[in-house]
Amino acid sequence: MIQVKNLQKKFKDIEVLNGLNFGVSSGEVVVIIGPSGSGKSTTLRCLNRLEEPSGGHIYIEGKDIMDPKANLNKMRTNLGMVFQSFNVFPNMKVIDNVTIGLIQVKKTNKLEAIKIAEEMLIKVGMIEKRDSYPDSLSGGQMQRVAIARALAMQPKIMLFDEPTSALDPEMVDGVLNIMKKLASEGMTMVIVTHEMGFARDVADRVIFMDNGFIVEEGPPSQMFSSPQHERTKSFLEKVL
Ligand code: ADP
Ligand code: MG
Repeated sequence: MIQVKNLQKKFKDIEVLNGLNFGVSSGEVVVIIGPSGSGKSTTLRCLNRLEEPSGGHIYIEGKDIMDPKANLNKMRTNLGMVFQSFNVFPNMKVIDNVTIGLIQVKKTNKLEAIKIAEEMLIKVGMIEKRDSYPDSLSGGQMQRVAIARALAMQPKIMLFDEPTSALDPEMVDGVLNIMKKLASEGMTMVIVTHEMGFARDVADRVIFMDNGFIVEEGPPSQMFSSPQHERTKSFLEKVL
């Protein structure tokens, strides 16, 4: 589903991604962990070209997204993204937040868009807030709306960048449970998170990044109980 070859990213002269190689299969859940500043967000953002890579190649379903002829908008509808900050439009009702991408980007007709949006709001447990405005919602509820909006586009891959980091502790599980459900339904996902318990339960594979490199990767059972590299060990000792 995703193949990343020698991905490099520089900001000015500073290399923040030093030639990453990894793949994600259909239905696989890959969790990226690592210290702050190690390049996790930049990696996710390169996958849908919110950042322009400085070198290397990214293939989504075999198509090179760096190809100048690639249709960026079409490619992006295949990749849903949820950020740490709750990216909802404050001036729009919940339902309109979820339909807007369908109507404006996918040109879905309004009735059909509403039908899809309602399904997604049911899925994330937010249908009763259908006509509310975001300012009446908690952070956890806003994040669930953001997930519904991403899902409404019927993406093939979901990217999550620390979706629970800005939430009050009592809101975290609700969001993680939705992600677990998506995983069990076979959604292909790449998730950056500091929730190690979640990673252990849900990840098929864990990638540890440090300083713009993939230091090691493996199944969670191996990564959490017998990491191979010193840097992975010392990171896990701090966070577990
Ligand atoms: P992480 O998500 O693992 O915390 P990031 O991918 O956000 O790491 O950042 C990796 C490195 O790139 C950091 O040193 C950060 O300061 C730098 N960086 C990220 N975005 C920019 C930017 N837009 N301009 C300059 N440097 C950036
Ligand atoms: Mg980050």
